[in-house]
Amino acid sequence: MSTSDIVIVGAGPAGVRAAQTLVAYGQRPCLIDESLRGGGQIYRRQPANFKRPAKALYGFETSKAQALHAALDGLEGDIDYRPETLVWNAQQYALDTLAHGVAAQVPYKRLIVATGATDRILPVPGWTLPGVYSLGAAQIALKFQGCVIGERVVFAGSGPLLYLVAFQYAKAGAKVLAVLDSAPLIAQTRALPALLRQPATLAKGIYYRSWLTAHGIPVHQGVELYDIVGQQRVAGVHWRKGELTRSLDCDGVAFAHGLRSESQLADLLGCEFNWSPLNRAWLPLRDDRGRSSVADVYLAGDGAGIMGADAAELAGELTALTLLGDSGQHIDKARVGHLQGKLGAIQRFRHGLETAFPFPETWAAKAPDAMTICRCEEVSASDIRQSVAEGHWELNRVKAMCRVGMGRCQGRMCGLAAAEIVAQASGLDIASIGRLRGQAPIKPITFGVEAEQ
Ligand SMILES: Cc1cc2nc3c(=O)[nH]c(=O)nc-3n(C[C@H](O)[C@H](O)[C@H](O)COP(=O)(O)OP(=O)(O)OC[C@H]3O[C@@H](n4cnc5c(N)ncnc54)[C@H](O)[C@@H]3O)c2cc1C
Repeated sequence: MSTSDIVIVGAGPAGVRAAQTLVAYGQRPCLIDESLRGGGQIYRRQPANFKRPAKALYGFETSKAQALHAALDGLEGDIDYRPETLVWNAQQYALDTLAHGVAAQVPYKRLIVATGATDRILPVPGWTLPGVYSLGAAQIALKFQGCVIGERVVFAGSGPLLYLVAFQYAKAGAKVLAVLDSAPLIAQTRALPALLRQPATLAKGIYYRSWLTAHGIPVHQGVELYDIVGQQRVAGVHWRKGELTRSLDCDGVAFAHGLRSESQLADLLGCEFNWSPLNRAWLPLRDDRGRSSVADVYLAGDGAGIMGADAAELAGELTALTLLGDSGQHIDKARVGHLQGKLGAIQRFRHGLETAFPFPETWAAKAPDAMTICRCEEVSASDIRQSVAEGHWELNRVKAMCRVGMGRCQGRMCGLAAAEIVAQASGLDIASIGRLRGQAPIKPITFGVEAEQ
């Protein structure tokens, strides 16, 4: 049982700043996170006995990472912190958790969902081979475990993380063979005016790219990774630019096209969702103060729309202030206005990022029939197209017909790609085919768990 009325799910930048704000106003929230030591994705901490220095782990973001870690450590004793605890189900005023094989129910009166994001995956033939990782997973291997995913690694896809992770690998001494960016250079040039709204962030992006080129690492833009080959594990990739095709031998591939929000808990809680053209995804509705459409449920950070770590910190604080205000506490209104202003500026920058790294709209049309889309249920592009040919176009109906998104990941990996294929095959707009409904457990849980005494 939790003794806290307020529960926060997620100890990333959003969740930690929310907890800190609540404590500053005399509350004792419960902070739950499935990871070992908090910090979220960007400021993920390595296990306590690992010794890579902070500068090597976080680069330009070292001081922000250290500040967030210090904030979390400083809350010890003031919050009910539950690391290594998965929230696998959410219902009105209660969460179902699993920690070290023990299942429990955590009641709440008010809830902040700050569950962050994962990679957006657009499969490529061969993507299920051992040695192929998402960009985020490749970064976790390095950041958390000090490991690289191969001795000769190719990075592909698009988005800011592409250049950052390639840079981090090369800087750590790994052999980076190439960076294959699906976004053409012209897109990034076009995005410059919007990106200049956050000159420091833009400068970091330019630095990573220039550093790679200066160190002899080929960066190809406007190219398409179209095949990953190998028998027991990845042995190479094929990519093309227009008519020109190229091959590279490698033993590791990391790929993704941006990020997707982890919105399943909001879904299980009954939050209303809206189509977001910017994120090309369905997102839980939140007002400009962090309130969801469900009473007493608040949303902060990337879990309700990708805006990055700085925005997540601001949103965490703003959402906590909103919650406190809604509970009748007197809050600093000037601070609320300040936070909203800063978030607005970041949102405009975010439009620039989407222009710089556009979604590859032709992906679905080119996806080969035989390619696996849902690896949990082994559903191919052709299986999905067959369901559409039989007259089904609503995504949950397609799932019922061919089992796409029905496996252990519950569509977290394949759902967006499946939706793209349904839209393309049916000729309908992506926004009109619906979204996969969340189902508990949202992540795999083990059999034979004990109930908390
Ligand atoms: C793998 C990955 C790596 C990234 N690396 C970088 C980077 O190096 N630089 C950069 O600028 N941006 C990076 N990003 C983007 C950046 O992480 C986010 O913009 C930022 O961390 C958002 O903060 P947040 O607090 O909203 O969410 P997050 O930092 O994602 O934190 C969410 C937390 O919620 C927890 N959680 C989620 N679901 C549950 C659940 N059901 N039960 C319990 N706990 C749960 C997670 O364990 C996580 O700690 C990365 C994103 C990903 C997915």
